[in-house]
Amino acid sequence: MKCKPLLAGLLALALVPPAAAEAIWITNVKLVSPERLERIEAGSVLVENGRIAAVHRGPGGRMPPGARRVDGKGGYLTPGLIDSHVHLHAVPGMSLEQAREQQALAESYQRQLPRSFLYYGYTTVVDLAVADMGVIARLRAAPLHPEVVHCGQPLPMANGYPMSFLPADKRFAAFPNSVYDPARPTSVPPGYRPEEHTPQAGVARAKAAGAVCVKTHFERGFGRERNLPVWSPALFAEVRGAARANRMTLVTHANSFEGQRFAVDNGADVLAHGMWHWGSLNGSKELPGEIRALLDRIAAAGIGYQPTMRVLVGLDAYFDRGYLDHPGVRKVVPKALADWYATPGGQWFGEELAEGHSHEEMLEAGQAPLRRLRQVVKYLAARDANILFATDTPSSPTYGNLPGLNGFLEMQHLAEAGLSPAQVFRAATINNARAFGLLDRLGSIEPGKDANLLLLRDSPLASVQAWDGIVTLWVGGRQVEREELAAGAQ
Ligand SMILES: [Zn+2]
Repeated sequence: MKCKPLLAGLLALALVPPAAAEAIWITNVKLVSPERLERIEAGSVLVENGRIAAVHRGPGGRMPPGARRVDGKGGYLTPGLIDSHVHLHAVPGMSLEQAREQQALAESYQRQLPRSFLYYGYTTVVDLAVADMGVIARLRAAPLHPEVVHCGQPLPMANGYPMSFLPADKRFAAFPNSVYDPARPTSVPPGYRPEEHTPQAGVARAKAAGAVCVKTHFERGFGRERNLPVWSPALFAEVRGAARANRMTLVTHANSFEGQRFAVDNGADVLAHGMWHWGSLNGSKELPGEIRALLDRIAAAGIGYQPTMRVLVGLDAYFDRGYLDHPGVRKVVPKALADWYATPGGQWFGEELAEGHSHEEMLEAGQAPLRRLRQVVKYLAARDANILFATDTPSSPTYGNLPGLNGFLEMQHLAEAGLSPAQVFRAATINNARAFGLLDRLGSIEPGKDANLLLLRDSPLASVQAWDGIVTLWVGGRQVEREELAAGAQ
């Protein structure tokens, strides 16, 4: 009965006039779909009206009359990838002021942005903290773009992370969903009404903006900003309740042992970072027993875990001159911007990070957090935890987090840390789709799902390098050759 969906597709074809939509018969491919990785079979897929109309497994299969045949030449067909942690408003490598002053450069980046995610196979991205809904609308209006889902504007604690990084007179306007804790009063501007800043009110505003998830933080701060207010368990129970009532995924920024323990104890669905701060255990060379115990709970409960290894490695891009020579850089940003990165003006963020230290010292200083993160990721991979593919692009003003390319590099870090290529594949497809409530439409090659498909030369189950060998994409059923998506190709 393997052909049942195909027969249904044929019947459907017979019932609609042939001119209704182009049907595409993608054949001579090996089907790589995450719900059945134990069997990689030859097969064919029928695409109609932007959806997967039928999947035929095994050799043969009859092409429906009137369909256009695409010969996959024995390549590997996968679902499009999902990056569940991006920020679409920022221009990597530019301060907000620079982006204003060099508007043409910033705009050329924004035009290329949707194509860059697609270039590396990301047909869906989740913006975890929208700063400006207009950015989402513009991206969705681009002729070819990944699907954007989002958490709306985040719910930081009033005067907590990340709003604390803005001047006191700007931060409340920039974070309209800040949450006020009546048990711990903090200074607020005139006109700020605490009753409009409850967890329920913030979740309701995010929902009204079309969010599928709620973004919170447990972060006591770093750098100049420390001892910031954080959620109490009682208040967090309210945001969790509001998220559940609205069927929204509760995502919590936490990269410390303390923060992740809080988020797990209090029922977060997704942890938005890997754990690279171990607090008083930072010096431990082995993974400490109390951290292992927490990771065991994360794995057993199926809590979504976003390692976001590029947050750390992306900072090294200023100290490792090889980064700007990566051929992928000029595929994902316009030439003028890539050239600017190498100029003294483009190096500003590296200088700010280094504070006068040498490049060697900076690379050395980054090693300890990265070692801790790798140990955590390796442990979770060995327990087959619910790892979600997520880059946090860009996580800071670094040009080391470029759209699309950052995902390809993140895959290599995950593989080096101990994920198998199949685990990376599941993390970027079915795990993300499930975690964000998108599984009915995305995440696998099954009839009825959106036709977001990638044709690869080599098997992504043999090596994550295969993701740099995408040949053709279908984005909502629309076919595009990969090289047409590169910066400068238009
Ligand atoms: Zn982020």
